[in-house]
Amino acid sequence: MQREQEDALRERIASLLRAGLKTKTEPFPENDREFASLLAELQHLPSDDLEGKLVISGFVDHPYGEDQMRCQECMYYLVHRKWCDLPELALPVEAHWWCRLWRI
Ligand code: SF4
Repeated sequence: MQREQEDALRERIASLLRAGLKTKTEPFPENDREFASLLAELQHLPSDDLEGKLVISGFVDHPYGEDQMRCQECMYYLVHRKWCDLPELALPVEAHWWCRLWRI
């Protein structure tokens, strides 16, 4: 994906979240089994189902929870590309966003 396409897709995600797309932020996966189960749900989606990915993974456009977790501190975040490198998501994201697949 070219940089311009990634920027456009990031903006599309931002506008869906701004418009109030209701995503599943809870329950947060507490162990590997729950994490794998969320990944399996994502793997069953058609690859172009953007809203489905956002809903299942619980995207929000701000830091989340007591610890104010953000993409920026997640092991899947590629800083220079502003990209989520988790294969089941593979989406352009902002550093201050979050989803419930967050990991360090
Ligand atoms: S897994 Fe979630 S929290 Fe981590 S970089 Fe991707 S979208 Fe952000």
